[in-house]
Formats: sequence, C-alpha cells, structure tokens
Amino acid sequence: MKLASFIHGGEPGYGLVVEDGISPVTPAFRADYADLRAVLRAGAEGQLPDNLDVAPLPLSDVQFLPPVPNPDKILCVGVNYRAHIEEMGRALPDYPVVFTRFARSLVGHQEPLLRPLASHQYDFEGELAVIIGKPARHVAREQALGHVAGYSCFMDGSVRDWQRHTGQFTAGKNFDNSGAMGPWLVTADEIPDPSFLLLQTRVNGAVMQRGGLADLVFDIPALLEYCSTFTELMPGDVIATGTPGGVGAARTPPVWLEAGDTVEVDIGGVGNLVCNVQDELARSRA
Ligand code: MG
Repeated sequence: MKLASFIHGGEPGYGLVVEDGISPVTPAFRADYADLRAVLRAGAEGQLPDNLDVAPLPLSDVQFLPPVPNPDKILCVGVNYRAHIEEMGRALPDYPVVFTRFARSLVGHQEPLLRPLASHQYDFEGELAVIIGKPARHVAREQALGHVAGYSCFMDGSVRDWQRHTGQFTAGKNFDNSGAMGPWLVTADEIPDPSFLLLQTRVNGAVMQRGGLADLVFDIPALLEYCSTFTELMPGDVIATGTPGGVGAARTPPVWLEAGDTVEVDIGGVGNLVCNVQDELARSRA
C-alpha cells in the first residue's frame, strides 16, 4: 500500500494512493484516527482499504504533505555511504552520525523548496527515509525491521556553510522548507529487504547521485538498534538513512541549487519525490 497525507479544499487529510489518485479515508475513520501518525500508533493501517471514500481525488487536486506531517522526531544519519564519506574528506565513523531535523524544515512532494536568503550554499541530498510503525526501545538488529511501517523518499536539503559553522549540524540542516519527504509511505510488506533498493537524485533531469542501500556503513537494522538504545522510536518517527556520493558541495566547481531548479529523489519501488526550488525572498514577497 501507498499512504499519503495531503491538504485538499483547505483541509488536511490522508488516504490510500490508487491508480487514478488518492482515496481519502471516510469521515468516520478520520474521527477515530485524525492523521496517519494516529493510524500507525493504533496499528490500524490494515483497516484503511475498508474505510475509503468512493471517489479518489486526482493527484493534481491535492497539496502533498510529508507522509507523516507531525512525527514525534526526525532522526537523520550523516556520512553513511562510503562514497559520500570519501568525497566529504571524512574518516569512516565508528558510530552512526545522528542529527535531527524539525518537521517544519520539510515540505511534501511537489511543494516548493526554499533556497534560503542567508546563504548561497544550498545543496541536495537524496535519501531513503524509514518510518517507524511499532514502538522500538532496545530493539535488537534481528527484530528491527519488524518495527518499520514503511519507506519514503527524503531530500535532506543542506545549507553547507551553516552546517559547518560549528561541529553541530543543526542550523544548516533545519532551514524552514529546505528539505522534503514523499510522495508517500510505501508499506514495509512491499519491501521485504530494503538493502536491495537503488536511489537516484536528479537535478533538472541530470543524475547527480546514484547509490544502493547495500552500500550503507550502518544498515537500517543497525540504525534502529543504535537509535532505540537512547530513545524510544515511536510510530510515525522518521529515520533518514544518509546520502550517497555526488552532492553539490563535493563537486568542482560546487553545484548549488538555484531558484527554478527541479530536484528529484527517485527510489525504485518507493517513489519519485519531485520538488522545485524557489528563493526565500521571492516567495515571502509574493
Ligand atoms: Mg543527509
């Protein structure tokens, strides 16, 4: 199943992605489960197909939100592909490099990414996002994938000079509307082994990053084991697993995103997240 969150007619909603659009859940189901996070918390995903409104909404009529717009937390893993570690001139980490993003730093599929006023060093990072289904605390790697609700595409938009102001990534990774997730959550039953997934990031159609999840230094079970040791992972929580080589900062000359650029994070079997870049100034004056 593909589950999407959206705004339609000014109202937030969610539903099942079907051939000709999105089937929203019935008002009665929404009264029980206000959003997709509530569905995941209740383990009620399986009830969705029986609780859909009849007429699907055309995809062109909805404004996509991140599949879980209000996660308890978004954990991101830095320098987790060997090729990206080399291009960034870093040593192979002994432990996962974990940082956080705020929900308001993310937009949904086809929503504008904002190139910040404060910097010209706005960079792309295509990633696979893991979305938690069952609470996980002190989970062993052998059981870890049983706690995953599904997967989505993630754009860990990074403002490189702000990322490097200090040893902490927080500022450079949290500009409002600088990242994206979507278009939807693909449930884990469709992806029994995520290590087979292949990821591609394109800017204006040109392939900039290509990687396989098999190249992760810390794979998904290892990340769930590590993170669940310090915090309880809750349904709807997001773990972005890191980016392959090819980011703009590592190129000669560097490639920074500009207004009008189109960024795509395409993961076979998961989806193709597409967003255009706008200048923060242009948008706030509009
Ligand atoms: Mg990243």
